[in-house]
Amino acid sequence: MSIVTRFAPSPTGYLHLGHAHAALFAWTRARSAPGGRFLLRIEDIDPGRCLPEFTDAILEDLAWLGLHWDGTVRVQSAHLPDYRATLDVLARRGLVYPCFCTRTAILREMAQSAAAPHAPDGSPLYPGTCRALASSERARRIAAGEPHALRLDMAAALAAVPEELAFEEAGEGRIVCHPQAFGDVVLARKDAPASYHLCVTHDDAAQGVNLVTRGVDLKPATHLHRLLQALMGWPVPAYAHHALLTDAAGRRLAKRDRAATIREMRAAGRSPAEVRALAGFPAFPIGASPATLPAGETGGPPP
Ligand code: GLU
Repeated sequence: MSIVTRFAPSPTGYLHLGHAHAALFAWTRARSAPGGRFLLRIEDIDPGRCLPEFTDAILEDLAWLGLHWDGTVRVQSAHLPDYRATLDVLARRGLVYPCFCTRTAILREMAQSAAAPHAPDGSPLYPGTCRALASSERARRIAAGEPHALRLDMAAALAAVPEELAFEEAGEGRIVCHPQAFGDVVLARKDAPASYHLCVTHDDAAQGVNLVTRGVDLKPATHLHRLLQALMGWPVPAYAHHALLTDAAGRRLAKRDRAATIREMRAAGRSPAEVRALAGFPAFPIGASPATLPAGETGGPPP
């Protein structure tokens, strides 16, 4: 089976070396055998943080790095009806419910309990306040235009998927999933039509991605994504989570580190090969066809 990978940045800033590493990691896997595909997806679902100018910059920087993608770029904001349809399926099965709580109210409620548990992504574990609302009250508040998120009813979801859930991690093998650690996770936010978890899982299935590569910081989220796949009957890709690049002080690179952006490096006269090397890929990935290389460059050693 040919490998289909993707690079899925959010256009909230310029690409930095950490992104270049992630993109090269995905690109290398796709190009490691004939017929592989490397897809590009722009995860711009958060209207408050994403800017079109960053999308343009991402495309330009990737091309400059010699990382050409296959097919058209999938832009999440152009697929809102698809995410809505998924939410509707889950709602019809009683697996999501509207949540009217503010973040402040959730934190206040948590402060009153002795334990203040958090989900693996660091968000407070929802205490379940709105889960028990009567359907008449839900309908009344929605009709009154009260802002609300949609949360997964984790207990109901787990009951709907009785089998043990697991995924294959490169180099590790089968990992059994524990999605309950996320509690009643938000699948549609008050200010964004769908959450990262919903969109990313939906799109990996829609695009036929069969090897999800991404930073190890997102490995815990895979437990939840596996549950969404089971609920929706979507295919299950394999996973390869990679280590995150850090700066000299051992801190994870972030978009705020201007010096590490691909833009700044280009402006400072670095070549694509130098930047790829700094991103942890000194030899251009094995199997690269010369046609895909930037002008004047030769490929890495033959396989
Ligand atoms: N859009 C996410 C990010 O920029 C990556 C999502 C993923 O690879 O699953 O961090």
